[in-house]
Amino acid sequence: MTRLFVLLLAVFSAAAHAGDTPRVLVTIKPVHSLVSQLLQGVSKPALLLDGYQSPHTFQLRPSDARKLTRADVIIWVGPTLESNLQKTLRQAEDKSIIQLTRSEQDQHAADYLHTDPHRWLDPVLAQADVTRITESFNRLYPDHAQQITANSQQLINNLRLLDNEIRQTFSDKAEISAILYHDAWHYFQARYGITTHGIINPTAHGQPGARHLFEISKAIEKQQTRCLLVEPQFKPRYLKTLQGKHKLRIVTLDPLAAELPAGPDTYFQMMRDIRDAFAQCR
Ligand SMILES: [Zn+2]
Repeated sequence: MTRLFVLLLAVFSAAAHAGDTPRVLVTIKPVHSLVSQLLQGVSKPALLLDGYQSPHTFQLRPSDARKLTRADVIIWVGPTLESNLQKTLRQAEDKSIIQLTRSEQDQHAADYLHTDPHRWLDPVLAQADVTRITESFNRLYPDHAQQITANSQQLINNLRLLDNEIRQTFSDKAEISAILYHDAWHYFQARYGITTHGIINPTAHGQPGARHLFEISKAIEKQQTRCLLVEPQFKPRYLKTLQGKHKLRIVTLDPLAAELPAGPDTYFQMMRDIRDAFAQCR
């Protein structure tokens, strides 16, 4: 009886991976876009968080749990971003989990790398992540290695061109007369040498304190800041007050591609929109 049970289990788990089509789930849209390019001609990855859902605070719904169950491979940024997913993924022993943030590497990195998980906003780091994901796929699905490797080379090449493009935009002047709403831009700013006038809400959870808002208001006045760069999903009332008081121009920054449809080109469109948003505020 026990033997039969073990045998059956072996058959089932072999079937889960022998299937020709990799069943991949990616947590956020920008990374989903990169993985879609990587798997072109092989399979279409599923997306966990769509629309305006924030990975910092989302709660797993039954439909999300079903998506997780259906996947053999799950790609996420890591516990500093999708913190509510940590427990679920730890229990998903039958799945291959690919995590983009790596603690060993981050120990020697700049301070912000410990706290800012938005690493996909740097096209150079994205190249490294694509390489790592490619290696994992090729190990898991050797039958598709040729196609995935070819896609990977093309994708990395496109990311290089994108990086050059953004670099050129900010080569002459990278001081941006703007304050940022969400503290998500260390990677992007560090890569292109961009400076701004401050961050309104340094934590992704809750609201900034009155004292911090007062300091921001003072900084705006002193530096004669022109723009407020804000994500489309954040619309707290105090932003309107701040905008009215200082005659700030509101410019949308969309680091999760919340306003774009999911697909292989989404990452590139999103990064060009972000570049344009910063550039408008010079
Ligand atoms: Zn964020």
